[in-house]
Amino acid sequence: MQRRRIVKTVNAYDSGLHIRYGAALDEYTTFQLGGACRLMISCRTPEELERAVRYASALGMHYVLIGGGSNVLVSDKGVDAAVIRYFSDEPLIHRKKNMVEVAGSAVLDHLVGYAADTGLGGINYCSGIPGTVGGAVLGNAGAFGRQIGDAVESVTLMNERGETWNEPGDALDFSYRRSRLQRTGEIVVSCRLELENADRNQLSEERRNILKMRSEKHPDWRVEPCIGSIFRNIEPTSSAGRRKAAGWFLEQAGAKDFKVGGAVVFDRHANIIVKRPGGTAQDVFDLAARMEESVFEEFGMRLVREVRYLGLFKGDDPQIAAEFH
Ligand SMILES: Cc1cc2nc3c(=O)[nH]c(=O)nc-3n(C[C@H](O)[C@H](O)[C@H](O)COP(=O)(O)OP(=O)(O)OC[C@H]3O[C@@H](n4cnc5c(N)ncnc54)[C@H](O)[C@@H]3O)c2cc1C
Repeated sequence: MQRRRIVKTVNAYDSGLHIRYGAALDEYTTFQLGGACRLMISCRTPEELERAVRYASALGMHYVLIGGGSNVLVSDKGVDAAVIRYFSDEPLIHRKKNMVEVAGSAVLDHLVGYAADTGLGGINYCSGIPGTVGGAVLGNAGAFGRQIGDAVESVTLMNERGETWNEPGDALDFSYRRSRLQRTGEIVVSCRLELENADRNQLSEERRNILKMRSEKHPDWRVEPCIGSIFRNIEPTSSAGRRKAAGWFLEQAGAKDFKVGGAVVFDRHANIIVKRPGGTAQDVFDLAARMEESVFEEFGMRLVREVRYLGLFKGDDPQIAAEFH
């Protein structure tokens, strides 16, 4: 049984925000790992997000934004900053013909389910990807060679002062698992996706198949905590080449047998780490470092991390760790 920190839940006067001091971040990440932050501000709507950002800024406190926590590894020591969690269980979706306006806090799979149910195609391949729409736009999430950035018509962004503005999707410099937002720290308040009319029954059947395939290939993070692929796939060296799976290189390097403490490489996918009882974020960090090293020794090639590390880890580059991003 894990010990929980005692936390204080308050509604910050005036702001009406839901704030928890010393909130343990393992409750908010799919890895179910991570120590406490200084305070967590939870917000669901664009209006609440604006108040949260302005509140953190008025306190003069550095903040880190998270959505579904499905692509972050938080240090066991926690994060010496405020955390703003922009996440909503309610879909917060508006449709006008084949355009869909959705809050960045909405769960991506809720959006995909809504699109399939209402006969909108162009995003079905995202079925079953955990996390929020905002997290997906930032990391240009995708599967089967397709990515959400291709459907983004425009976005509403917010800066650290709580100011918002609109931009067309192609201003975000989308590429494989990348967008401009990873460099700028701008927040996806909401986005507008251009989808296409499609047959509902076909979409639903395709969605069922994708979900089945994912459940056979990927761990269910609710049962086997994880954060998906640790490393990016390898970009082709020429425009004619195809992207190569990092998992293949890891498997050749013997990574499927690797284990550090309570962190083990998933037996059906060498690019995924799962947490066993008692596993720590430091175990995951050390295992990921060992996986990276094994590919370097075998192929002379450095894998690039896809997931974001938050807070301090033993053995991390202090300069990178200090930046949080
Ligand atoms: C079992 C499993 C399978 C997965 N499969 C896939 C897959 O097939 N394809 C894929 O692409 N990914 C996959 N992932 C990774 C993950 O689901 C995606 O990266 C997801 O889009 C992250 O969204 P999130 O809300 O959880 O982001 P978080 O983990 O909360 O945050 C990740 C990054 O996004 C930023 N962020 C979050 N919300 C916003 C916002 N509103 N505006 C700006 N920045 C924001 C955070 O600051 C952070 O830098 C998988 C993960 C798991 C656990």
